[in-house]
Amino acid sequence: MADSDKRWPAGVVTVALDLSSEKSKALVVDAIREWAHHTPALRFNIVEGKTGDIRISDDEGLKGNWSAIGIEAKRIDEDQPTMHLNRTDDSKKLRSTALHEFGHALGLLHEHQHPQNSLDWDSPQVYDYYTSDSFNEAMVREHILEPDNRPGLQITPYDPQSVMHYEIPAALRRNGQAIPKNTTLSAGDKQTIRMLYPTVNPT
Ligand SMILES: [Zn+2]
Repeated sequence: MADSDKRWPAGVVTVALDLSSEKSKALVVDAIREWAHHTPALRFNIVEGKTGDIRISDDEGLKGNWSAIGIEAKRIDEDQPTMHLNRTDDSKKLRSTALHEFGHALGLLHEHQHPQNSLDWDSPQVYDYYTSDSFNEAMVREHILEPDNRPGLQITPYDPQSVMHYEIPAALRRNGQAIPKNTTLSAGDKQTIRMLYPTVNPT
């Protein structure tokens, strides 16, 4: 599901990479290309450095994996990143994290917060599992537990295979079924992003 009010206008989006290694850059570019294949209305101009519409950093002074949602990036100071990726030597992990965060950068929202999700959370277990010094109970509610019911969202059928869905350990659901980590775009992801950025016909 997506926030269509946050989509980028058709055309060129400059993506600036401020990443610590060539290996990280290659993995992030690869993740961007996987999305780009399904966003014919956008062309990504990938550059090195800190100047761009989407600014991706792995600065160790910042913490966590996060991204602005779509054009919310425009409200962030130009000398600050709009997306942060934690450094890791685990290539698979970095690539799948980049895929998830770049989904946010295009305007996609968390699939586990789909209003018709069938997760049937075991809420006390969810708080236990996710609450930490940097992620309090209110944040667990806002980013994980509460379905996103805002009016005007583009809602596609609930898709537990989406890269925008968190990996869910079995203990956090009352039916005891785990949802594995999704590392590649699902059919639903492709459908969602194509609805958000439909092909524009040249005039
Ligand atoms: Zn996320």
